[in-house]
Amino acid sequence: MTDDAWGRIRDELIKTVGRDNFVNWIEPLEFAHVRDGVATFLVPTNFMGNWVSRNFGDDILQHIKSSGNPVSRVDFVVPETVKPAPPPQPAVTAAADDSDLPGAPLDPRFTFDRFVVGKPNELAHAAARRVAEGGEVTFNPLFLYGGVGLGKTHLMHAIAHELQARRPDLKIVYLSAEQFMYRFIQALRERQMMDFKQIFRSVDVLMVDDVQFIAGKDSTQEEFFHTFNALVDQNKQIIISGDRAPGEIKDLEERIKSRLQCGLVVDLHPTDYELRLGILQQKVEQHRAQYADLVLADGVLEFLAHRISTNVRVLEGALMRLFAFASLVGREITLDLTQDCLADILRASDRKVTIEEIQRKVSEHYNIRLSDLIGPRRIRTIARPRQVAMYLAKQLTTRSLPEIGRRFGNRDHTTVMHGVRRIEELKATDSQIADDIELLRRALEA
Ligand code: ADP
Ligand code: MG
Repeated sequence: MTDDAWGRIRDELIKTVGRDNFVNWIEPLEFAHVRDGVATFLVPTNFMGNWVSRNFGDDILQHIKSSGNPVSRVDFVVPETVKPAPPPQPAVTAAADDSDLPGAPLDPRFTFDRFVVGKPNELAHAAARRVAEGGEVTFNPLFLYGGVGLGKTHLMHAIAHELQARRPDLKIVYLSAEQFMYRFIQALRERQMMDFKQIFRSVDVLMVDDVQFIAGKDSTQEEFFHTFNALVDQNKQIIISGDRAPGEIKDLEERIKSRLQCGLVVDLHPTDYELRLGILQQKVEQHRAQYADLVLADGVLEFLAHRISTNVRVLEGALMRLFAFASLVGREITLDLTQDCLADILRASDRKVTIEEIQRKVSEHYNIRLSDLIGPRRIRTIARPRQVAMYLAKQLTTRSLPEIGRRFGNRDHTTVMHGVRRIEELKATDSQIADDIELLRRALEA
C-alpha cells in the first residue's frame, strides 16, 4: 500500500466514521508500512492507539482490504523516538536569589495546601510541617521514605516553599541525589572541588531527594557523607528522602545508614481508599474552572479510588485523562466512559494477589509458622488462621477450590469449602475475626 493509496482510503473513511471522528482519530494517523500483511500506523500516544484500534480498527481494515490490499491486520504504534514532553519546569528555584546555589526548581503546585492528609501520611506530614516552621533544629536529618508516587517530593517542595516564605534569609537548597552526583562529578572534572565543598557547606537547609540513587556510587557517597556531617555539625537542617528505610537501602555505606537513622525517620504508607478519594475530590475542585462544562456522574470518583490503588501519580493521571477525553468528545463522565477511557490503567492496576502472599501475611498476622499454616496440625490456634487464609485465597484470587486445597498441603477441596463457609459464619458473629480479615485484605490489596 502506498501513501497515495492510504490517502484515498482515508477519504473513503470519512463517510463511514463521520466528520468529527475523522478529524479526531483518523486524520492524525500516519501510515508507516505494510509488512507480512500488517499495516502499521504511527500514533502520538498509546491511549490514542488503543482507542482507534478498538473503535475504528475494523473499519480501517475493511477499507484497506476492499481497495485491493492484502492486509489482514492493522496496528497502531507510538514511534519510539517520540517521548512525552517533560512537564514545563517553573522558573522558581529554592535558591532564586543566590545564583551560586545549585538548587533544582520547585514545583509551585507542591504546597502544603494541596497535600491531602490521611492516616497513611499523617506522621510524615506532621514532621514536614514542623521542619517547615523553621524553628530550632530538633531532629536532624528528617528522613522521609515510601514507595513511588506517595508524596515524598511533594512534601519536600512544600517544606521549601513554606520555609522560603517564613525565613527569606535562609539559603535553602533542594536537589535530587542524582543532581548532587552530577554536580560533584562536574566539580571534579573542572577541578572546582573547593568551590563545590564551600557552596554545599554554606547552605542553611539542604534537601536531597531519592538518596537511594547514590547507593553503590562510592566517591559520591563519600562526598555526600562529608557534606552531611559538615552541615549537621553546624546545626543546619537536612531533609532526605528515599524509597525505603535507611537500613534497607542496598549498597549504601554503613556509616551513612547510621547517620541517616540519627534523626527522625518517618514513612509514607501506601494510600488507603479514603485518602485516594480525598485526593481525587481535591483534584476535581482544582480543575473545576478549567472544565466547567463537565458533568461527573455519581460513583465515578469512588470507583477510581477503589480500583487504582498503585500510586497517587497514576491516580491523578487517570483523572486528568478522563477529563481531557470527556471534554474532547463532549460527554458526561459516566462509569462506562471511565471504564472505556481508562481500560489500560485499570487493567494494569488490578493487583494480582497470590496464595503465597496470603499465606505469608496470615502467618505473620497470627504469629505462627508458615510450615504450620500449610502443615497437618489441627489445633485451633493454627486451624483457624488456616481457614482465614483459605477464605482470603477464595476471595482475592481466581484460584479454584481444588487448587487452593493443593496449595494448603494437598487438602481436599471439601476441606477448603468447609473452611471458607466457617469463616463466613464467624465474620458475622465474631468482630475480632471480621477485623482481622479486613486488616489482612487491606494489607494484601495495598
Ligand atoms: P514521590 O516523590 O513519593 O514519588 P510525588 O511527591 O512526586 O511522589 O507525588 C506524585 C504525585 O502525587 C504528585 O503530583 C503529588 O502532588 C501527588 N500527591 C502525592 N500525595 C499526595 C497527597 N497526599 N495529596 C495531594 N497530592 C498528592
Ligand atoms: Mg519523588
